[in-house]
Amino acid sequence: MVVFACAGCGAVLTARVARVALPDHSGQKYGHDLLPGLLEPGTYAVDPGDGRPWRPWKPAPEEHGVRLLTYCISGPPNRIGIAPGDVRGTVFIPDRLGGCCCGWDGQYGPNLACATCGCPVATRVDDCGFWQVVWLEPEAVRPVSVDGPVQRVIDWTELPSTPPVDPCGYWSPQWEAAVAVALAHLLAVSGGQRVSVPEGPVAEVFRRAIDSLLPPGPPERHLVLAGPGLSAPITDIALVPRHPQTGEVWPCNTPAEDQ
Ligand SMILES: [Zn+2]
Ligand SMILES: [Zn+2]
Repeated sequence: MVVFACAGCGAVLTARVARVALPDHSGQKYGHDLLPGLLEPGTYAVDPGDGRPWRPWKPAPEEHGVRLLTYCISGPPNRIGIAPGDVRGTVFIPDRLGGCCCGWDGQYGPNLACATCGCPVATRVDDCGFWQVVWLEPEAVRPVSVDGPVQRVIDWTELPSTPPVDPCGYWSPQWEAAVAVALAHLLAVSGGQRVSVPEGPVAEVFRRAIDSLLPPGPPERHLVLAGPGLSAPITDIALVPRHPQTGEVWPCNTPAEDQ
């Protein structure tokens, strides 16, 4: 386990945290409700970024008191996400707040400073439609190893699951993000060839994109589901779960391509 400390003065800025995989929905903007936390208390995740240079926006003048509502979902590469309740010893930077709707999205750069030395160290994000998180600036903090309970990696068969669709028929936002990520991987490994998918939920979420983005005709590639409790033979492409703590993909004991 680690705590993160201010790189400027050494003050401890977080509770003890253990690393987990970055959730697929970390960069998601969803609806106009207040969303829950992105990460469980006691955990952290590192966001490698989207490969593009990132620069915070400057607050724009508010002519006639009217402001264009904008939002920002990216940040500097390798920022470190933690649960807001795991932050210690910080104060808000008032002129970095605002520009958003029901909370803050960090579009003006770090909005939390170290309470000891005043250096900007983190960005609190809690605007409507954002998963609530505090992103530590990778250059402004450093990890410090501390004693603590060893993180128990939950067995694949014991992992809690979220139903893809709620009783009212609404898709879960986490599932929407995971499906989008899986679809991008599927299109990449298809090599531009038609892919067959199993009937049922997989066909329901993938087939429309396959029909519109891959060439028509008989399928040349074949996708099967693999994971805990599934035993279909993998002959080509397997759609597998990714462990939420370790980021490990479900091991497929065949020479077939994964994902
Ligand atoms: Zn400091
Ligand atoms: Zn709002």
